[in-house]
Amino acid sequence: MIVLGAGPGGYTAAFRAADLGLDVVLVERYPALGGVCLNVGCIPSKALLHAAKVVDDAAVMADKGILFGKPEIELDKLMSWKTSVVERLTGGLVGLAKKRKVRVLQGTARFEDAHRVAIEHGGETQHLSFAHAIVAAGSEAVMLPDVPEDERIVTSTGALSPTALPDSLLVIGGGIIGLEMANVYASLGCKVDVVEMTPDLIPGADRDLVKPLARRMAQRCRHLWTSTKVTGVKANPKSLTVSFEGKDAPDSERYDRVLVAVGRRPNGGRIGADAAGVAVDERGFIAVDAQCRTNVGHIFAIGDITGEPQLAHRASHMGKVAAEVAAGHKAGFDAIGIPSVVYTDPEVAWVGVTEKQAKADGIAVEKGSFPWAASGRALGMGVDEGLTKILFDGETGRVVGAGAVGPGAGELIAELGLAIEMGADAEDIALTVHAHPTLSETVGMAAEASLGTLTDLYLPKRG
Ligand code: NAD
Repeated sequence: MIVLGAGPGGYTAAFRAADLGLDVVLVERYPALGGVCLNVGCIPSKALLHAAKVVDDAAVMADKGILFGKPEIELDKLMSWKTSVVERLTGGLVGLAKKRKVRVLQGTARFEDAHRVAIEHGGETQHLSFAHAIVAAGSEAVMLPDVPEDERIVTSTGALSPTALPDSLLVIGGGIIGLEMANVYASLGCKVDVVEMTPDLIPGADRDLVKPLARRMAQRCRHLWTSTKVTGVKANPKSLTVSFEGKDAPDSERYDRVLVAVGRRPNGGRIGADAAGVAVDERGFIAVDAQCRTNVGHIFAIGDITGEPQLAHRASHMGKVAAEVAAGHKAGFDAIGIPSVVYTDPEVAWVGVTEKQAKADGIAVEKGSFPWAASGRALGMGVDEGLTKILFDGETGRVVGAGAVGPGAGELIAELGLAIEMGADAEDIALTVHAHPTLSETVGMAAEASLGTLTDLYLPKRG
């Protein structure tokens, strides 16, 4: 078995395949294992978001009787801590690979035919033949066309390793990466503007979940411009001049740094797929079946390269399926819901069907929701804005989707993901005793709201 790419999809696939007795080679072009997620994505961004939250939480306590004063940011120390977190995890992967006797090769792999790859590293090429291959080559950040090449214009990778904090930062793209990084930089004291092309931040999520975050981001950032396009970026010696076209934005503004966070593109065009006969569409995606097989039966593909949502946990689950199928097991990737979490403060999380999607697809749903303003635990944390909602299928009453906004929403959503996979209904959740006072209680109460048994709020009686 050869696995191309050692991100969360690739290393999971390699380790599972080795556990099932296959002889596995894991190829990675960078020296560290872990891919974008561990090295320049999920993990370092969460370390910095934690730092940002500590700063914000301290500030919130000022009018509650605890004063810390203005934070002093020692950027070098913060970056070393972030790097130490990353290295602990990537180092751990090396140990896990060794224990399983997975051979790790550094290099860029390209198919030579349907049973051979060439692996290039430092001017040398190795050729390996394989019985099964798993393509886990991921995606890369999209750069906007007509933006000059300049070290002050960065993607998420650059934004996660600043050598100095800029005075001003423009974030292009009000999606997940854009808002997470805007949160970090604004909380660390930078003047941050966000420009989003569509009328809404995080366009895929339900508005009621995004609203509290949008409000908080508006306080944190200097400007949030929606329905606005960037029409040009000019690099001057001392600043970057960005021009805009939109309802509230100025014609142009100067910045020290620009972060482009307008989506990620799959790396399907970089692996010599043609030589193996693997079909790649014009955008770079590789289509797979429920067993994660490409059109070539013994070559599998998993993760970002196979489509949306481009999330690490989708990749790792697909990785296990591909490894198991290759080892002769009956397995399939048939998750009903894949959770999405935006790790800003407040966090926004959802799983399964959104209200937006239900409306667009004509799916009848019933909703139960609980506002965190009525949660004792939330109030005791200084939080009076937040929401947990659950969507039930209009006919069967089963949970089909859920969302939450507020601190820790990303953790709460797990229970609702399980509810969806287990086919739970409102009673299953409402009659499960949730500890009081917890934020998880809002899940039970959202279910009670839908049943009409909720006593913590006065709701007009349901039928
Ligand atoms: P995204 O698709 O989430 O957001 C991109 C945003 O940029 C959209 O709102 C889009 O409308 C906007 N946009 C596009 N072109 C624009 C333009 N020219 N000007 C202004 N706005 C423009 O993409 P992302 O935030 O770059 O994230 C990339 C991928 O990485 C996503 O698939 C996401 O799922 C994943 N990711 C996930 C997490 C997480 O799970 N917490 C964190 C980071 C990234």
